[in-house]
Amino acid sequence: MDTIKKIFKTGYGPSSSHTMGPAFASQIVKQNYPDAEKIEVILYGTLALTGKGHMTDRAIERTLKDIPHKIIWEPEKNLPAHPNGMEFVIYKGGKIIKKEIFYSVGGGEISKTGKPEEAKIYPHKSMEEIIQFCRKNEIKLWEYVFMHEEKDIKNYLKKVWKTMQEVIERGLNKEGILPGGLGVRRKAHEYYQKAKLAGGAFKERLLLSAFALAVAEENASGEIVVTAPTCGSSGILPAVLYYLKTKDMANDENIVKALATAGLIGNLVKYNASISGAEVGCQGEVGTACSMAAGAMTQILGGNIYQIEYAAEMALEHHLGLTCDPVKGMVQIPCIERNVFAANRAVDCANYALFSDGKHLISFDKVVKVMKKTGHDLPYLYKETAKGGLAEEYEKT
Ligand code: SF4
Repeated sequence: MDTIKKIFKTGYGPSSSHTMGPAFASQIVKQNYPDAEKIEVILYGTLALTGKGHMTDRAIERTLKDIPHKIIWEPEKNLPAHPNGMEFVIYKGGKIIKKEIFYSVGGGEISKTGKPEEAKIYPHKSMEEIIQFCRKNEIKLWEYVFMHEEKDIKNYLKKVWKTMQEVIERGLNKEGILPGGLGVRRKAHEYYQKAKLAGGAFKERLLLSAFALAVAEENASGEIVVTAPTCGSSGILPAVLYYLKTKDMANDENIVKALATAGLIGNLVKYNASISGAEVGCQGEVGTACSMAAGAMTQILGGNIYQIEYAAEMALEHHLGLTCDPVKGMVQIPCIERNVFAANRAVDCANYALFSDGKHLISFDKVVKVMKKTGHDLPYLYKETAKGGLAEEYEKT
């Protein structure tokens, strides 16, 4: 497994695979061919199917703005290695000098092979192996992460946490209609105001929901967010952590440690299954984010390694089969509400695991395996094509 820094990437939303990935690939091409006369960018498969709604063209145009370029949409064609393929055709002297293929493999990561490019930072491949190592060496999961990452990981996670808080605070203060033409209204501010007036458990749920909405709405507007592990699911982990901080149940120091554990959980899913909605549906995005948040909260509230694993397992298990069918290809419906409910579910999973002794029959590793298989068994329509499910029904109305 590679560094957890790749799980937490900062960039423009609304889609790690549709905006961050293509922007990073465009940046590489621009750097490699600074004197190109023209660049054609051909978007294939799901990148082309939902690229307009996801603002892929805007991300590419923003990056290639000083080079003449043309974007070509090929929704009916797929490149062999991954549904999110793109090809750059570079022109100089009136002829093609090079063609380069990239795949946007989820979480903003790009690859030439269709698989995440792996630098082997971690020697272990499964949660079970990691838990055994931690037990033998009497260390916690976050210590395991700090032991294997580069020395700057703590500072990196501190910056991640700072940005996450800024996104929430920005989102809580905005009102109005989200861009894209669906007419979806921002709700974070309203929910936050109502939370201040409410009491008891209702207040707590409203607060948590407002924090998740704040990030998901910023993302839907194409503003800066941190992937956790993707843009579409970027509201879940920050909402839970911010809620715990607001309630004086966590401070910045233990939130950074919780981010390390959350990153490890996300990494395990990424390398043993997928965090790409185009590859395995929303279970890989929102399901993984919920798992990361549940594990992080369990750690913060003093859960042991087995309880953390249990919370992470439960949160993913109860998202199995979740389809990706964004209306008009925008990261708004069902994505925004899905962040809210997954944040609430993460809190429930953490509490449930903390009440238990951590013993359970289905392991996290098994659920990750099942998630991958379920994702591959899901019909193509339900994997970010915006042609099936809610997206299809919406078009009928
Ligand atoms: S439905 Fe889920 S996976 Fe699909 S775009 Fe929305 S958040 Fe991402």
